[in-house]
Amino acid sequence: MTFDELEAAARAATPGEWRACREGECSCGMIRSIKLDAHIVTVHDEWYDPIPTIKRGERREDDEAVIEKLVYGRNGAKAQRADAKYIAAANPETILDLIAKLRAAQAVVEAAHDPEDGIWRGWSKRLGAALRAYDALGGSK
Ligand SMILES: [Zn+2]
Repeated sequence: MTFDELEAAARAATPGEWRACREGECSCGMIRSIKLDAHIVTVHDEWYDPIPTIKRGERREDDEAVIEKLVYGRNGAKAQRADAKYIAAANPETILDLIAKLRAAQAVVEAAHDPEDGIWRGWSKRLGAALRAYDALGGSK
């Protein structure tokens, strides 16, 4: 995936900061957009298909409809919480900020290089401007 593709994906996604429930320590695994107060995704500690089933009672009227789980695998609670924290941290706002900083850092490198003749020439003026733009984004922090 290119930076342009990643940027387009980040701009198309639900905007703003995302947070995992109780900062990822909750077993529900839910991640929400703070800006829109909207559900983004739920991270599970296992993956399964729900299987509608009739649990037979003593009499027919005691029959009960239940949903059983056909479990295919488990990641475990520790991985679920770590994944929820990671997904929330890698939200569109963070990704767009990282892309801006990477592009500014690329501009610093490119500013030092003259593509016309392939040598390092007249770099100090371009490098100074690129470094100021990079610092303005907090790139050196
Ligand atoms: Zn929760």
